[in-house]
Amino acid sequence: MVIFNFLCIVIENSIEELKKRLKTPQDIVIITHRNPDGDALGSSLALSLFLQQYFHKVDIILPSDYPQSFGFLPQVEKCKVYDLEPELCLDTINRASIVCCLDFNSLDRIDKMGESVEASNAFKVLIDHHMHPEPFADYTLSETTASSTCELIYTFIELLGETNRISEDIATAMFTGLITDTGSFKYATTDRTFEVAAHLKRHGVDDYSLQDKIFNTYSAKQMRLLGHCIYNRMELLPEYHTGIITLTKADYEEYSIERGDTEGIVNYLLMLDGIKVAAFITEQPTIVKLSLRSKGDFSVQEIASKHFKGGGHKNASGGSAYAKLSAVVDRFKSVLPQYAEKYFGTESN
Ligand code: 5GP
Ligand code: MN
Repeated sequence: MVIFNFLCIVIENSIEELKKRLKTPQDIVIITHRNPDGDALGSSLALSLFLQQYFHKVDIILPSDYPQSFGFLPQVEKCKVYDLEPELCLDTINRASIVCCLDFNSLDRIDKMGESVEASNAFKVLIDHHMHPEPFADYTLSETTASSTCELIYTFIELLGETNRISEDIATAMFTGLITDTGSFKYATTDRTFEVAAHLKRHGVDDYSLQDKIFNTYSAKQMRLLGHCIYNRMELLPEYHTGIITLTKADYEEYSIERGDTEGIVNYLLMLDGIKVAAFITEQPTIVKLSLRSKGDFSVQEIASKHFKGGGHKNASGGSAYAKLSAVVDRFKSVLPQYAEKYFGTESN
């Protein structure tokens, strides 16, 4: 089934071949994207826990390690990390009979593992909600209006006719992606998101405790870093309804910034009255990374894909550039006027 309308594209090939294969125990590998977030981890763990009930052998491979703040998720400690054990991960992919790619849509998002997945004879599954999915999988469930890949994992289990097998742990993993990709149901939601959330709550999710574990576990260091970003590193361009926060390599050292510490900082810019576009631009060891957010029609996906070799969603995208931090900030500022003109029109002047 392929449904096109001007807002969303839903691709869902026939699930029958996959259903047939899942009738006998399989060697399954689940892969998600680098710097895994709540949705990447939640969808991978939910699918893994679900499939384990049918005696499949399931391995989750993460290109890079997960933030410690997600350490409470069931079985997260069992994930293999490509950056830490590359040979073992490539071996695991080569042995798999089914490879599931979750929460990313093109094989170049998983670095070297992409080549192994492409070369593998395994049955390939893609479940994702990013724009412009690559057609590399044998079974694809791709829906750009879905709030999260976790929401699509629920749909996938529904298509298999097995929602009665959703345990409390599976529901908790899925709910994690729902709340992290929607900022606790503040954006990217549809009526379906709330339906799925209601089902998961019925399956036993303690959503108050989950929100507390995910959002109220800042360390003092992270809080100070947030203060530093807002007080010292924020630049506003009101004429373009845009805010920018930059972090230098020196900031990374001074604040001993670790994986996950900068998660969500970009969203603070959108709390400012009149700001509709937010950019968080950081100097990494070899590249400069951009994290972009917007409100309404303004598509940061367009900016990320056209100018920074990236992509994502209309209102949340990312990209990168091999250049000096100041040059990347200048490039971002130089492309802004054309998009401000396109999306805000005369309002931006
Ligand atoms: P974040 O800003 O949180 O890193 O990412 C926001 C969204 O953009 C996520 O859905 C993420 O998958 C996507 N994204 C981030 N960086 C890149 C990138 O370099 N390339 C592509 N294609 N997508 C990205
Ligand atoms: Mn996602």
